Amino acid sequence: MSDLIFDNGEFARQQKTLHGELALADLPRVAGEVLAGGPVQFALAGGSDHYKRLTLDLSLKGHFELSCRRCLKPMPFELDVASRFTLFADEARMDEAEADDEDLEGLLFERAFDPMNLVEDEILLSLPFAPAHDSCESDAAAAPDAGSTPQKPNPFAVLAELKGKLKRGEQ
Ligand SMILES: [Zn+2]
Repeated sequence: MSDLIFDNGEFARQQKTLHGELALADLPRVAGEVLAGGPVQFALAGGSDHYKRLTLDLSLKGHFELSCRRCLKPMPFELDVASRFTLFADEARMDEAEADDEDLEGLLFERAFDPMNLVEDEILLSLPFAPAHDSCESDAAAAPDAGSTPQKPNPFAVLAELKGKLKRGEQ
């Protein structure tokens, strides 16, 4: 993963792009929050905005299985996010810009920027805080092997067991 570390200011200035596919094993923090999932398609593109501030555009797509907080059965979740980050030289300027524009997400210039850290942060922010089926029984019934008929005890087996108990009682 360390081979992906780069200078995010240079990346944006040179309008570089980076894209690929990440397995869940590449995203250890995300793996701790989901039942299953991946691969995640990611694309990062450097550029600038109309104020000539340097930017990073990140898009992420993938499929995850989350655990329903009510029935604990898997719940599908489609990740499809696109975020723009504006780069700043210091926190004071970043805070000021974020206060001026609610939609702005700031990042600091970093010579040793780890894009995987940003990818994981974005995925974790996108996951629902308390995932739950709209209707647990009907949504969970759509899952494979949830449709099997409930097991009823065989009436003859119950009878045989009862007879066995009675016989043992006689002795
Ligand atoms: Zn549920």
